[in-house]
Formats: sequence, C-alpha cells, structure tokens
Amino acid sequence: MPADTLAPRPLQAALVSAKIVDAVLEALAHGRLTAGTRLREEEIAGIFGASRAAVRDALKALAERGVAVLQPNRGARVASPTEDEVTQTYAARALIEGAMAADLAQHITAADIRKLREHVGAQRRTNDSGERREHLRLMGDFHTLLAMLHGNPVVTETLERLVARTSFMTALFPPQTQICAIDDHVALVDALAKGDGALAQRLASKHMMDNRARLRAAVSVPTADLRAALLPS
Ligand SMILES: [Zn+2]
Repeated sequence: MPADTLAPRPLQAALVSAKIVDAVLEALAHGRLTAGTRLREEEIAGIFGASRAAVRDALKALAERGVAVLQPNRGARVASPTEDEVTQTYAARALIEGAMAADLAQHITAADIRKLREHVGAQRRTNDSGERREHLRLMGDFHTLLAMLHGNPVVTETLERLVARTSFMTALFPPQTQICAIDDHVALVDALAKGDGALAQRLASKHMMDNRARLRAAVSVPTADLRAALLPS
C-alpha cells in the first residue's frame, strides 16, 4: 500500500474519517442520501480533501454500523435493508426489550424513573423544535438508557447495535416519518414506575412491533449528487 505510507498524520486522518462518517449519517438523517447510493472512495476523498485511507476507514466504520455495504472490487454502497431484514431486526428488539422491561420493573429506583422522565421531556422538546437528527438520536438513546438502567452490559451492547441498525432503517424513510411514539415511552415509564413487569413487557414489545409496522418499503433512487448530499451549502 504505497499510497497509505504517504497518508496524513494518524490523528488528522482519524478526524477526517470521523467527519466523513458524520456527514454520511447527517445526510441520511435528512433524506439527502438514499439506500443503494454508491459511496465512491475517490469522489469522497475529493469532496473532503481526504486521503483514500481515511475514506476507507470511514466506510469500514459505516459498514460496522450496518449503514454501508462493502463489496470486494465493487466498492461501497449505502445499505438497502430488505423487508425481511427490517422485520427480523425489530423482532429481535421486541424480544430483548420486552424481557428487559419485565426485569427492570422489579428493581427500578425513583432516581431511575426521574432520569427516564427527563429524557422523555427532551424527546418532546427536540420533536417540537424540529431538530430531526437530535430527535432521532434521543429516541434511540431512550432505549439504550433503559438497557443501562437494567444493568447487564452484554444486553446493553447488543441493544446498542440493534438500535443503530433500526435508526438507520428509520433514516431511510422520509424525514416527516415519526417512528417512536413519545406517548408509548410515557406509558412504558408509567408501567415501570408502578413496578408492573407484565405490563412493561407487553408495552415494550408492542412498541417495537408498532414501529416496524410504520415502516414501508422504501422506493429508493440512488442519490445523484454525492457532493451536494454530503456537503450541503
Ligand atoms: Zn421508542
């Protein structure tokens, strides 16, 4: 890899990679970048004035999140999840989060409940002010917060990966699509506060299946102008 030996200093390359990852996620969250769009290494390097190595690192990081697909000799594309993949991912979340909520109801504290209610308040604020990406992030974060309060780090890690995948699936749909219903979050926190494990389990699981039902097959046309998508003026 002779080109890589000329790559910029490692810290700078890492910063550029992070910037590219961020630009792709931002473009997805705002619907500027669509499923199946080719992420051409050379073009992205040109857009960001980055080395090919920095772009490759960014594409690898996006692939690990399930956002990009790397195909040997064919380059990278924005992933296009199939209907089955979407269903399976949400079903996995319904199973894990239902069981987790039942468990959590048995040992949740008043301080935990306060944290959850504050979080739901922030969800409402970002929804009302139209901060789409921050709102989507908070809606996903609510679920990982539940996992952290539940307290099993293996469950938390598993859920973080699943949340990242479903956030991406959500981002592929038009920006006005509301996925998590905030009222569902309120009802779940109420059930947890009452220590009602059976109700919390039912609500957590149904919340995921309802979210799945709201997603429709995206008819996706690859993005024509990668530069405008990644670096909007
Ligand atoms: Zn939710």
